[in-house]
Amino acid sequence: MAKCVSIMEVQNQPKKTSSLANVRVVVRLRPYMRKDDLKQQGPCVRGLDSQCLEIINWRNQLETMQYQFDAFYGEDSTQKEVYTESIEPILSNLLNGQNASVFAYGPTGAGKTHTMLGSPEQPGVIPRSVLALFRMTQAESSSRNYEQCDISISMSYLEIYQEKVLDLLEPKNQDLPIREDKEKNIFIPNLTQKTISSFADFEQHFIPASQNRTVACTKLNDRSSRSHAVLLVKDSLGGSAHSVMITNIAPEHRFYFDTLTALNFAARSKQVVNRPFTRETIQATALAPLKRPREETDTNSGSN
Ligand code: ADP
Repeated sequence: MAKCVSIMEVQNQPKKTSSLANVRVVVRLRPYMRKDDLKQQGPCVRGLDSQCLEIINWRNQLETMQYQFDAFYGEDSTQKEVYTESIEPILSNLLNGQNASVFAYGPTGAGKTHTMLGSPEQPGVIPRSVLALFRMTQAESSSRNYEQCDISISMSYLEIYQEKVLDLLEPKNQDLPIREDKEKNIFIPNLTQKTISSFADFEQHFIPASQNRTVACTKLNDRSSRSHAVLLVKDSLGGSAHSVMITNIAPEHRFYFDTLTALNFAARSKQVVNRPFTRETIQATALAPLKRPREETDTNSGSN
């Protein structure tokens, strides 16, 4: 099972910001999708509190490994909770001229799409953030006078698959180049940009474009697990002053090594830009024993 990411970048006009990125690393554990799975085997990973979790140590099943992140969201966490606690706070920086990005990472089936897109009943990070962005700009516009008011929102939506860029708003634009300007801003020439003036406008472009992606995924086996979807809301791809990395994980034992790899990647991301993660070994009491796989590397070989 491979990893993949979906990313939302909410960007202001390119502007030099601090080179030290401020990344908030959070982990979300999805619930069991089938009651039968839970009955057969307990989870291989579980939350300890609002920041810590533990996972069975496959080398010694009497032990677990503990991780600490900026936030941990358990099986019962809601879409609203994830958005309000971890995403909403960084959006306020946009009106100060700073950029923000959110990306989801983790094994296929662990809940990235649910967290980022969600459903009409349970909207995820992307629709909630875009709605908030419109509310924020409206409030800002009405608090400024007419001459000062220069706020417009546009969107681009692309997919990166095998290092090729596909323009999801204009699927005939395939294999677009990625360029860097003198100021090290990364951009994609000729990538479609649509100006959006309301949330309904956003949905009108976003929903069919997401379907373009789904169709492509279905046509090409395993594409979904190796492609990266990027939604850009204002106009360049590049460094971000405020980032949230959501690591999605699943409780089932069949995800164990993908979960471990994802947690280690998340912990390293946190270590690089934030404070070091702590990892301890404690006695496993309530977690179910794990069947040791033949080869750890076998399970991880599909990762990208
Ligand atoms: P991914 O995008 O990582 O491949 P999905 O988001 O498609 O995974 O999730 C796989 C399944 O699990 C979907 O049916 C999704 O609705 C469900 N799911 C994921 N996370 C949650 C959650 N937190 N609560 C309820 N259902 C979830």
